Amino acid sequence: MNDQLERLNRLPLRSNLRGLTPYGAPQLNVPILLNVNENTHGVPADVRAAITKAVSEAAAGLNRYPDREFTELRKALAEYLGHGLDESNLWAANGSNEVLQQILQAFGGPGRRALGFPPTYSMYPLLATGTDTEYIVGKRAEGYDLSAESAARQVEELHPNIVFLCSPNNPTGTGLGLDVVEAVYEAGEASQTIVIVDEAYHEFAHDGTPSALTLLPGRERLIVSRTMSKAFALAGARLGYMAAAPEVTDALRLVRLPYHLSAITQATALAALQHRGALMADVEDIKKQRDRIVAELTRMGLKPAASDSNYVFFGGLEDPHRVWQELLDAGVLIRDVGIPGHLRVTAGTETETTAFLTSLENILASQAALPA
Ligand SMILES: *Cc1c(COP(=O)(O)O)cnc(C)c1O
Repeated sequence: MNDQLERLNRLPLRSNLRGLTPYGAPQLNVPILLNVNENTHGVPADVRAAITKAVSEAAAGLNRYPDREFTELRKALAEYLGHGLDESNLWAANGSNEVLQQILQAFGGPGRRALGFPPTYSMYPLLATGTDTEYIVGKRAEGYDLSAESAARQVEELHPNIVFLCSPNNPTGTGLGLDVVEAVYEAGEASQTIVIVDEAYHEFAHDGTPSALTLLPGRERLIVSRTMSKAFALAGARLGYMAAAPEVTDALRLVRLPYHLSAITQATALAALQHRGALMADVEDIKKQRDRIVAELTRMGLKPAASDSNYVFFGGLEDPHRVWQELLDAGVLIRDVGIPGHLRVTAGTETETTAFLTSLENILASQAALPA
């Protein structure tokens, strides 16, 4: 193909990396960015002040390696999650992507298999390949539902070493019932399957939605993954974490790089956890915009999926790529996830959400007026 790819292929690259393209959601300079499910509300002023102070204090000690065990941060994360967890249950890394990679390094690898249920988070296959873990693709029902019976049967048939359950699922936004998690865990008993529930967006779920954290007691192969990238508006700081049995934490210690969490990262995350009031108020605001998008898209005759996240997956589009391009021309970047008839949009501030909805309605009206 192009010169760059040719030169890459002349290198003695591992065979399972040949021909792959890196993760690459567009990073474009557009006024309204609603494409990668970031928190669009920015870091509130009091949180920013607390982070600045904490980072400044940490800077004085940057001649030393950071606390390799980040114990204070693990305590704060355990306190935030509740459910009787303590620091022995908690582990963190530079984004939950790194936590997932460490889980694959510890429990996947050559000769082992990880199962995902597409459409789901596009990083699962890339993380699997990067750790030489075979990625196997499970099936969902029509409308992308995944029932407890179906998921459990697939685990029994495929006996994966690792299962990824994403709840709410990216890109569809819809949550999984805890019955699915329980059934998958039980079905994985025979092959000792590690079950990861990726709850990156849990804070945006409708009130009363239970977390898989409630299932942790007595299930030492269950891992619940979370992140500060979305609800805590800290995508740029890179802090993801997981809760599991203490022995899972011990397993991840075997593969983590020494001092992988910088003192700056630890100080930033701690300050945000200690000042989370304003952040959680913004989450409530985003949930309102999310519900507004679902209602408005329905009114426009489109088919939004039920969402417990900060984004909405919607169908009913004849030419989604053309709609995506025309939104971009209007200064609104959303996500074309490559699923026929569908697009995904992140819930923004009220102003951003209004701009998206208004532009979309105009585009649909003008496309309807044109010959196809
Ligand atoms: C955004 C996202 C993450 C978070 O990744 P970080 O590395 O923590 O920024 C994890 N899982 C899913 C499904 C996501 O959409």
